[in-house]
Amino acid sequence: MDGSIAPTPVAVDTGQTPALADASCHGGRETMLDAARAAGKSESLDRLLADYPRGPHDQPQSMCPAFGSLRVGLRMRRTATILSGSACCVYGLTFTSHFYGAKRSVGYVPFNSETLVRGQLYEDIRDAVYKMAKPEDYDAVVVINLCVPTASGVPLDRLPRAIDGVRIIGIDVPGFGVPTHAEAKDVLAGAMLRYARQEAEAGPVARPRTQADLPTITLVGELFPVDPIGVGAMLAPMGLAVGPQIPSREWRDLYGALDCEAVAAVHPFYTASLREFAAAGRPIVGSAPVGHDGTAAWLDAIGKAANVSFDKIDAAKAKFLPAIKGALAANPISARVTVSGYEGSELLVARLLIEAGADVPYVGTACPRTDWSAADREWLEARGVHVQYRASLEQDVAAMEEVRPDLAVGTTPLVQKAKALGIPALYFTNMVSARPLFGPAGAGSLAQIVAAQTRGRERFARMVSFFDKVGAGETAGYGFKDVPKDPPGSKERYRKMRLAKAKATEAIGS
Ligand code: SF4
Repeated sequence: MDGSIAPTPVAVDTGQTPALADASCHGGRETMLDAARAAGKSESLDRLLADYPRGPHDQPQSMCPAFGSLRVGLRMRRTATILSGSACCVYGLTFTSHFYGAKRSVGYVPFNSETLVRGQLYEDIRDAVYKMAKPEDYDAVVVINLCVPTASGVPLDRLPRAIDGVRIIGIDVPGFGVPTHAEAKDVLAGAMLRYARQEAEAGPVARPRTQADLPTITLVGELFPVDPIGVGAMLAPMGLAVGPQIPSREWRDLYGALDCEAVAAVHPFYTASLREFAAAGRPIVGSAPVGHDGTAAWLDAIGKAANVSFDKIDAAKAKFLPAIKGALAANPISARVTVSGYEGSELLVARLLIEAGADVPYVGTACPRTDWSAADREWLEARGVHVQYRASLEQDVAAMEEVRPDLAVGTTPLVQKAKALGIPALYFTNMVSARPLFGPAGAGSLAQIVAAQTRGRERFARMVSFFDKVGAGETAGYGFKDVPKDPPGSKERYRKMRLAKAKATEAIGS
C-alpha cells in the first residue's frame, strides 16, 4: 500500500454524538480518565500511570503522544499499523508520519457516535484485523487505541492473540495516560518484547537475519545510524558486539535483542521494554558512552554486566578514551547553553556540551526521572547544573529568560520565544538527529553547530531592535496601526443575544 488511509465501511452517523466522541487533548483529561475507568480500562491506565509517572509536566505539550507508537510500528518490516481514534487525530498522525517519511500506509478504522456507543467499533476493528492478518504480507498487526476509543473502553485485549500465525498487538496510547511521544515508543516496543519473550519461552523461534558471532549488547533507544557502529567498535576489544536495537526493525530482531549479555538503556525512559529484559534475566546498564567520563564509566559498567575481565575493559578504555579527549580538545565550545527537549537524550547532550567546555546551567527534559539516567543526573548536578525532569514549557522558558544563554537548545515554542528575545536558538531534535553522540565520533560533533548558531547573536539583536514592537500586541494583525475598535453597538448586541439564549435554555429545562 502506498501512504493512503484504508478505512473499513461504517454505519451512517445518526448525529446523536455523545460528549465523549467530541473530547480531545484540548481539554477534559480528568473527564477522559473517569470515562476510561468507568469503561473498564483501569488496569491499562494503572499500568501507564506506573510506567510513565506524572508531574510537574503531566500533559503532552508537544505532538500527540501516539505518534511515538505509530512511528515504531511504521518503521518495522512486515508490520501493519492500524489506528482507532477520532478522524482529526488520525489525520494529524498520518500527516506527521508521512512528513517524517514513513512511506507506509496507516490503517484506520473510523467510527461515529453510534458505532462507538453500541460497541460496533470493536467489531469493525476485529474485521479489519482479520482482513489485514495475511501471513504472506505480515508478521504482526498493531492496533493503537487513541484517546476516545480508550476512554470508551474499546477492548483491544480481546482481539485474537494471533491469526494464521500473524501476531496481533492491541495497545492503548491515550494522551491522558502517556505524557510524551517518547514514552509512547516504549508502549509499543514493550508490548512487542513481551510477546516475543513469551514466544521464546514457549519454544524455538526464528533466527535474526544478521547475528553477531560475539556475545551482544542490546542498545535501547532510537539512535543516529553511526552511533551503533561506533559503539560496536568500542565493544570489540571486550569481545562484545552490538545486537539488534530496540525499537527493532523486524519482528525476529526482538528475539535477537532479548538474547543478549546485557542491555544498555541509552535512552532512559523505556520502562516497559526494560521490564521485559529484566524478566528475561538480562542485566541493565544506564547512561551511555558519551564524552570522556561517560564513556569510561559506561565501558566499566558494561564490562562488569557482561562478565568481561578487567584487562579487556582497560584495553577498550585505552584505545578510545584518548581519542575522545583529543576530539573534545580539538573542538572546544565556549558558550553558555540551556538545553531542553522531549527526546529523552537531553542529559547526555548536556554532558557532552560541558565536557567540550560549554557552560550549561539548565537541562529540562519532558521525560520522567528513572534509575537509568541517575548517573547522568549526578554528574550534571555535581557541576552545578539544574536538572528538571518532566519539565514544562513554562519552566524551560523561565530558565532561558533568567539565564539569557548564548544559545537556547529546545522545542519549537521555546525556540520561537528565544528568537523573539534575540537569543540564538536551535531545535533539540535537529541538533541530535543529524549527528552522532557517542564515543570519539560524538565528542567533536556539537562544536561546529554551537559555534555557527551563537555567531548569530549580534544579528538577532539588530533584528529585534529594527522591528521594535512591530508585529507584537495590537500591531500583530495586517493593516492595523491603532488599537482595533469593536464595531459600534456590537457589545450590546451580543449581550442581548446571550441573554436570549440563556432564557431559552432555562425554558427548555423547566
Ligand atoms: S489521540 Fe492525540 S491528538 Fe487525539 S485527542 Fe488524544 S492526544 Fe489529542
